Formats: sequence, structure tokens, C-alpha cells
Amino acid sequence: MEVHVVLLLFGPPGCGKGTQSPLLRDRLGIPAISTGDMLRRESEKHSDTGKTIDCLLAAGCLVPNEMVNHLLEARLAEPDCRDGFLIDGYPRTVEQASHLHQILEGLDLAAPTLVHMDVPDSVLISRLSARWNCRSCGAIYNLLSKPPLRDGFCDIDNEPLWQRNDDTVETAHCRLDAYKAVTDPVLGFYKLGGTGNVIHVNAHQSPDAVFEEIKAALETEVFSPVRLRT
Ligand code: AMP
Repeated sequence: MEVHVVLLLFGPPGCGKGTQSPLLRDRLGIPAISTGDMLRRESEKHSDTGKTIDCLLAAGCLVPNEMVNHLLEARLAEPDCRDGFLIDGYPRTVEQASHLHQILEGLDLAAPTLVHMDVPDSVLISRLSARWNCRSCGAIYNLLSKPPLRDGFCDIDNEPLWQRNDDTVETAHCRLDAYKAVTDPVLGFYKLGGTGNVIHVNAHQSPDAVFEEIKAALETEVFSPVRLRT
């Protein structure tokens, strides 16, 4: 039997979705899609839409559902998503969850497994404001828990590191508020609506420990459709 895997990495900003995403991508052999990365690319375009997105991102507000739905739908129609994929950062509203449900039905893909990554608020704010990224290879550093070997430069490709303009203490609070108001209810959509599996992970641990916990949960009988490569 052919098995399709659809994983949704879900949790507040700073919970570690972007760190776990490439690890799971490599382990499962499926593409990893980040709506935040897609929107950041759009925001760099000098179009009216690009400028609108740029302002919303800088303020820590969510981008309107139609814009994100449209971008994601186009990405999921690409051939590499045929056998499944993982998404980091979507759905972030109940409306997006319902839209994804329709897309998956249209593509004849299985109901998703949502990985809920839980971390206390106080930890999230300090994690976000200490986060630095490598634009070129996507590596993520944290000045408190995982600093680069050479100050300001990526360990992997030696490129200069960059800080997202929404990773400030003030904007982090706005993003957390948006999460609680409109993203948290997405959990109910999956738990109560029976439209997928939900697993809960303690994401207030080292990235390796979080990855082990996710792998263990995916390997259980309950989620047996998700077969991990050795
Ligand atoms: P992320 O990289 O996932 O932290 O996302 C960065 C920013 O992109 C968020 O704070 C939102 O402004 C926007 N964004 C990402 N994904 C979505 C989404 N599914 N719906 C609306 N806005 C989003």
C-alpha cells in the first residue's frame, strides 16, 4: 500500500518548528514547506502585495487567509508534494485548517498528523529575541542556547547571520497574542472535528530531545501510517 504522510508542525512562534522541520524532512524524505519563508520571499518583491505582506510581518500580524491559502495551494500542487509533505506554520486559523482539509481531499491525500509543540510563554519571548538565522542555508542559531562558533557567522557555510525584523521582544508579544487569539483554536478543529491525528510534544527541551519525542510519537501504533526511515 502506498502511504502518504502529511505532517503539520504546530505551536507558538519560537517553539522550534523551523528547527525540527529540516530534521523531519530528511528523516521522512518529504518536502518541508514553511508559509513564513514563502511570505518572507513575497515580502521582498517590490509589488503592492509584497509591500502589504512586509508591513504585516514586521508588525507581527497574520497575513490574510486568502493570500496564504493561495500561495500554499500553488505550492502543494507541485509534483514533489504528491507523496506527502510537512508544513511549518500553517494552518494558523480555523479557516485555513478547513481550507487545507479541502485541498487534501482534492489531492486524495490522507488526513494530517498535527504535531503540537508546547513551550511556556516566558521561554518563547527570550528564544525569539535571541534568534539569528542564516539566509543562505536556513540554519537557525540562538545566542543563549546555540550560539554560532564565530560571532555573527554561520557554522555551516560561513555566511553572515541575519535577524528577522519580527524577532524583537515587542513584536514577539504581538505574535504570541495572535497565536492565542486565532491559532490556538486550530487544535480544537483537529481534536474535536476528527479531521486528523494530534500528538503533543514537550518542546521545552533540546532540539535533539524534541526530535526524539516526535519520532517516538510518530512510530507508535496509533500513527502507524507514518513510517520513519532508519
Ligand atoms: P513564521 O516564520 O512561521 O514565524 O511566520 C512569520 C510570519 O509570517 C508570521 O508572524 C505571520 O505574519 C506570517 N505567517 C506565516 N504563516 C502564516 C499563516 N499560515 N497565516 C498567516 N500569516 C502567516
